[in-house]
Amino acid sequence: MAEFSGYKLGSLPVRYLGLPLLSGKLTIRACAPLIDRVTRRIASWKSKTLSYVGKFQLVMSVLYSLTQFWMSIFILPKAVIRSIEKLCSDFLWGLGDGARKKAVVAWARITYPKKEGGLGLRDMSSWNFACVTRHIWAILLKQGSLWVAWIWEYRIKRGSFWDVTTKPGSWLWLKLLKSRDKLRVWLSDDVEGVYWKGDHLEKFSIKKVWEEVRPKSRLVAWNALIWKGSYIPKNQFLVWLVVSDYIVIGDKIQGWGEAGSYGCVFCPCPLETRSHLFAECGVYRQAFAALFVNFTCQNHGNQWSGERAWASQQFQKRIEAALAGRMIWQALIAAVWRERCKVKYGGKLLDLEGLIRLVKSELIVVLAQLAELVASKVLNAF
Ligand SMILES: [Zn+2]
Repeated sequence: MAEFSGYKLGSLPVRYLGLPLLSGKLTIRACAPLIDRVTRRIASWKSKTLSYVGKFQLVMSVLYSLTQFWMSIFILPKAVIRSIEKLCSDFLWGLGDGARKKAVVAWARITYPKKEGGLGLRDMSSWNFACVTRHIWAILLKQGSLWVAWIWEYRIKRGSFWDVTTKPGSWLWLKLLKSRDKLRVWLSDDVEGVYWKGDHLEKFSIKKVWEEVRPKSRLVAWNALIWKGSYIPKNQFLVWLVVSDYIVIGDKIQGWGEAGSYGCVFCPCPLETRSHLFAECGVYRQAFAALFVNFTCQNHGNQWSGERAWASQQFQKRIEAALAGRMIWQALIAAVWRERCKVKYGGKLLDLEGLIRLVKSELIVVLAQLAELVASKVLNAF
């Protein structure tokens, strides 16, 4: 850190702006204040009363605000990143409340963008790398801090950042040098300035770097079906669990060897599966027919794979009918799931009419809110 700041170590306090000052590798112990802050923040939330969506938003706020300052300055040890991700994952999936022992979805899956089947949460390691690349950018432009001036004076001298030999140097400096091989594919410089993938860039962009270095997965066909133009986040989250096959349902619980009844709550079917509950079950089909009575939809497959493919194909366009159709379909799946969970926990089963009413009443509330929003926008335009 002495090298980082350009000051002599002996003259500095141990902490500066709440961050430890050090010249060597950032240790797990030095990161204890960060982990403490994350732990305290999470402990202050009442997790039992929050939905997945509510929890997810809080987790995002932890990852994006509490850790950002640290990640823009240091390369956090892998164990620290794992600890923070575990704290967030346990909170999100309700682990530690005694109810569940295993995360519903592995953390890595959530960190893919929505178009790649995830929830678009940042992967911390690659984000950290992208943030720290800012220092290299500053070095190439010879801008930013005393440290950059110091690096040029004593490390690079009259040479080039790309050719300077690796010793001696602080831990951070050596790490930056080590990342050159990865970065030189996209990053270059000349007397005119700095280039990212051949384009002259005035400002450093963490997002551009991150896009190259983040973990990637295959594009999914159902991105639009869940995320485009729907306005009920808790339903979107639930349908994401169903479509991604993360929903914890009868046949899975049976496969894990957990005790309980695995049958469908709506009909006598002895084994509840995703395909049964959200496509084959007679109650689902009847509710579907009633809700889509005014649509000119063709009949669709009677299994989940057919159901999902049908919905994707029907609702892919951004026309009103498709948007409404998507919203109804999501609301139906969510209502079936909530009703199923309520009954599993001892609640009384609604009849078919009740289930249909439930979906309609939710949609009416949301559509009324939407109408209000549109009306206020129109009125503001005058
Ligand atoms: Zn059934």
